[in-house]
Amino acid sequence: MAVRVELLTVGDELLRGDTANGNATWLGRRLTEAGAEVARAVVVSDDLDVIAGALDDALRRADAVIMTGGLGPTSDDMTREALARAAGVGLHRDPDVERRLRDRAAARSVPLPPDALRMADVPDGATQLPNPAGSAPGLRLSLPGGPVYALPGVPSEMRAIAEESVLPELRGATVSAGVLRTATVWESVVAHRLAPVEAMTGVKLAYYATPGEVRVRIEADAPGRLADAQGAARDLLGSALYGEGDVTLDRVVHGLLADRGATVAVAESLTGGLLGAELTEMPGSSATFAGGVIAYATPLKHALLGVSADLLAAHGAVHPEVAVAMARGVRERLGASYGLAVTGVAGPEPQDGHPVGTVHVAVADSGGAVATRAPALPVPADGARARVMVRRMTVVHALDLLRRVMLGLQDADPWPGWPEDREEAG
Ligand code: ATP
Ligand code: MG
Repeated sequence: MAVRVELLTVGDELLRGDTANGNATWLGRRLTEAGAEVARAVVVSDDLDVIAGALDDALRRADAVIMTGGLGPTSDDMTREALARAAGVGLHRDPDVERRLRDRAAARSVPLPPDALRMADVPDGATQLPNPAGSAPGLRLSLPGGPVYALPGVPSEMRAIAEESVLPELRGATVSAGVLRTATVWESVVAHRLAPVEAMTGVKLAYYATPGEVRVRIEADAPGRLADAQGAARDLLGSALYGEGDVTLDRVVHGLLADRGATVAVAESLTGGLLGAELTEMPGSSATFAGGVIAYATPLKHALLGVSADLLAAHGAVHPEVAVAMARGVRERLGASYGLAVTGVAGPEPQDGHPVGTVHVAVADSGGAVATRAPALPVPADGARARVMVRRMTVVHALDLLRRVMLGLQDADPWPGWPEDREEAG
C-alpha cells in the first residue's frame, strides 16, 4: 500500500494568485514517481489558527503531511508555531541553528536581525532536515497521525530538502504505469470504450485530453497486470491508438513517412501555417517535409494551388472537393509523395453558411488516390476559445488522416460494432 500523503502549502501570495503553487505541482509529481499517493493538496493563508486547523485535519486523514512555506524569519511566517500547536508541544531555541545563523551573518559581515533567530525556534521533539540551498532547515515531527515535514517555501530549498530527506522516507512500491495515446476520438468515447479495462482489479485509468487527442495513463499494482491491461486497451482502442509513452503524433507521421522514403507537402487555409509548424517541429524533419502553401484568401486557392475557379464560385472555399483539389495541387506543385490539405471555418463567425468547426481534410497520394475527412468537432460556445480549438483539432485530424492513409487504415472504423460511439466520435 502506497503512503497516502497530503500537502499543505502555506502563503497569502498563493491564495491571492500572485504566485503559482509550483511546490504542490513539483511534490505531486515527485511523490507519485516515488510510489507515494498524493491524496489532497490544500492552500492556506499565513494565519496561525488556519494553518494549525488544516494540519489537524490533514493528520486525521493522511499517513504523512508535507507543509511548504512560512518557515522564514518574518512575522508572517507561522509554520513553526502552527506545527507546535497542532502537536501540542512547545518551541525551544536550538543552539546549533542559532550558531549557524550567527556564523552565516558574520561571514557576510552583516548584523543578524533579531527576527532572524526565529528560524532557530524548533517544536519540541522535531528533528531538523539539512537545507543545502539556504539558511532555514526543514523540520520533521513524528505525530500519532504520522510524520509531518515542514519545508521552506522557496522552491529551490524545498526541492533540495525534499529530495534529500523526505522522498526517501515516503518511497513506496513503484507503480507500473504506461500511457496510450489516441487521436480524433472524444475523451468520453475513449473512456466508454475502455470501461472493461477500468473494471479490471488493481488497474487505474486516468485521462488527459487536449484538443483532438486523449492520453490514457494506465496504472497497475504489478507489472504483469499492467501488461494485461495495456493489451486489452490496445485491442479496444484499435486504429484510434497512434502511439505510446512520450511519442507525439507528428513524430509518428514522420516515422511512417521516413520508413517509406516519402515526403509530404501541406496546403493550409484555416490553420494558417500551424500544420507546417507542427511538421517542422522535429529536428530532421527536412527528410520528410517538403513545404507548404498557406492559401488563406479564397482566390489564392485557385492561383497557387490550381483549385478550379468554378468549384470555388459554386461552393465557396469550405467544401470537400476543395480540400481534395488543394491536396492534389500542393502535392504536384511541390513534388511531394503526399499532399495534405485543410479548409474550414475556425470562427468566431460562420462562413458561407457553414457553422464554426466545419472542417474538410484531404490526403492525395502519387497514384491519384485521395482520402477525406469531415470530422464533427466539439466546438466550445466561446468564440475565441473555439477558434484556438478548431485550428488545433484540425491539425490533429489532418496528421491522423495521413497516418491512416500510410497504414491503410483510412477506411477502418475505429469502433467496430459500437454505433452509439460513432454518433459521438469527433
Ligand atoms: P523565506 O525564508 O523566504 O521567508 P519561507 O519558508 O517563509 O521562506 P515563504 O515566505 O512562504 O517561505 O515563501 C518564500 C517564497 O517562496 C515566496 O516568495 C514564494 O515566491 C515562494 N513560494 C512559497 N510557497 C510556494 C509554493 N507553494 N509554490 C511556489 N513558490 C512558493
Ligand atoms: Mg517567509
